[in-house]
Amino acid sequence: MAKEFDVLIIGGGAAGLSAAGYAARAGLSVGILEGMAPGGQLLTIDYIENYPGFAEGVSGFELAEKFEKSAVDFGAKVIFTTVTGISKKSDIFNVDTEEGSFSSKTIIYATGAKHRELNCKGEKDYQGKGVSYCATCDGSFFKNKKIFVSGGGDSACQEALFLAKLSNDITIIHRRDRFRAQQSIVGLVEKNPNIKTLMEAQIKSINGDGKKVTGITVEDIPTKKVSEISCDAVFIFIGSLPNTNLIKDLDIEFDEQGYILTDENMQTKLPGFYATGDVRNTPFRQIVTAASDGAIAAHYAQQYIDSLTDNVYGEFK
Ligand code: NAP
Repeated sequence: MAKEFDVLIIGGGAAGLSAAGYAARAGLSVGILEGMAPGGQLLTIDYIENYPGFAEGVSGFELAEKFEKSAVDFGAKVIFTTVTGISKKSDIFNVDTEEGSFSSKTIIYATGAKHRELNCKGEKDYQGKGVSYCATCDGSFFKNKKIFVSGGGDSACQEALFLAKLSNDITIIHRRDRFRAQQSIVGLVEKNPNIKTLMEAQIKSINGDGKKVTGITVEDIPTKKVSEISCDAVFIFIGSLPNTNLIKDLDIEFDEQGYILTDENMQTKLPGFYATGDVRNTPFRQIVTAASDGAIAAHYAQQYIDSLTDNVYGEFK
């Protein structure tokens, strides 16, 4: 297996695979380090209707396969492993993984984000027993059951639409009086007879019988009135937290929420280290914007590599 690359991409979601495709087409040697199957969050999306060129819709799985194919067909290598550390010496990055160490002239960091938790009583106790963060993964366990969906963004609304195919008793509970989600998605929610909404309300606790979720305790925010509501499952989609644990010791800047700061070329403060997709400070998180980040990062990674001396590997010990 090759151990030295021009570009090592950490994370094989939409941003990473797009970067891989562009970098490989530019003739660079490209490795994609991915812990699971390539696709990232794409694999958890049932149906995508806003990716350009797919007006009829496409499953996340199918789109992930197409992204991967367009990178691998041009020579990018997918390496299934978990990254344990990243360092830089002279002009070369060293990446430690469970499959050994790799070196690269550039890094494109595309590790995405993980779900945020409500941090209410009972949430941790009932994870996997009625509390879930992935409708496509767990929805089928709750066919025809009473389900609450927490959140008011695109994820909550879109996942509620997916769950509404499995049950006619879905309630979105949101802390404000209006959704944050895009109007086109809100319109679909409003038209769906299987979805109700409970606005200006928040879950205070998730209750159960020790084995499974049996209900929630809800506060009506304007009146502070608390009530108990029975249900079988709570799906939580209240935003995300960036996956940046691996790079806390590198000379990289973050915004106040922990997302990586880059310039418009996806370049971080550390030369040769690019950040793309959901892990980056970006105003709009979409598959198309992640793919765009990847293309831009690959383009500027190539320019950066051209600016290096030819024998950087020779100097690396
Ligand atoms: P988001 O847009 O950040 O929305 C998070 C929602 O959760 C907000 O409505 C927020 O309420 C609520 N929330 C946050 N913390 C909460 C708490 N502690 N308790 C209760 N509610 C809480 O997150 P997202 O929906 O996961 O979307 C993330 C990004 O992915 C966005 O850029 C989105 O556009 C994108 N995305 C796009 C699509 C698509 O285009 N089809 C699908 C999924 C996601 P407030 O509104 O009061 O802040």
